[in-house]
Amino acid sequence: MTEKYIKNADFNFIHNQVALIKDSYKKNASPNVIQAVKDIANLKIMALFPNAMDEQKEMLDLSTLKTDQEYNKYIQQLHVYLLPFPKISEAQMKKMFPKNKKLKLPDLDKMNLHQLTYLSWVDISTNKKFIMFELEGKMVGIECKYTLLNKDNICSFCNRFGQVAYISTVTKEKKAKNPDYYKAIGNYICFDSTECNKNITNVDYLTTFLKESLGEKTVL
Ligand SMILES: [Zn+2]
Repeated sequence: MTEKYIKNADFNFIHNQVALIKDSYKKNASPNVIQAVKDIANLKIMALFPNAMDEQKEMLDLSTLKTDQEYNKYIQQLHVYLLPFPKISEAQMKKMFPKNKKLKLPDLDKMNLHQLTYLSWVDISTNKKFIMFELEGKMVGIECKYTLLNKDNICSFCNRFGQVAYISTVTKEKKAKNPDYYKAIGNYICFDSTECNKNITNVDYLTTFLKESLGEKTVL
């Protein structure tokens, strides 16, 4: 029995590929077209797991599946191998945001930690949105100011079009000759992080954003 090995974003990606395949069946695409969609999906999925063992490769391979039922079963089976968000204690969370004396914490018991790429919650009283993510093996956290927007927009993290908040965070970047220097970065992201976590298929942007926010590099 192989261990859990699929990250939430990768699982979402696989889910989207399956939706594409189901859609081409539904549209009665020609067998050649369907085969091409499947082959491309299979290649893209395999590329997400360069170190997959034979057993894992076998369960990820969707090239022989045909019916909706078979694809649903495939997804259900993979769901078992979804990696949960790393366990984190209240003390660890508080330590991550030391400037917030009365840090409002999320209710982790009520969250589906299996479908999380990043953990996020808001404190309405201070207008802050907190984001935690395992960056290259280390849990990191940042806090942002947020403004809820009336107009829908595209989320930078998951690319979904929907209700977004504008978040801005002050980076830790410093200028050696100017102690007052600060740099803020802003983004539109889903206000509802549960939805965002269901849609995110790639963590590149999130990773870059967090690295930049946390970057303690000194600019001369
Ligand atoms: Zn999003």
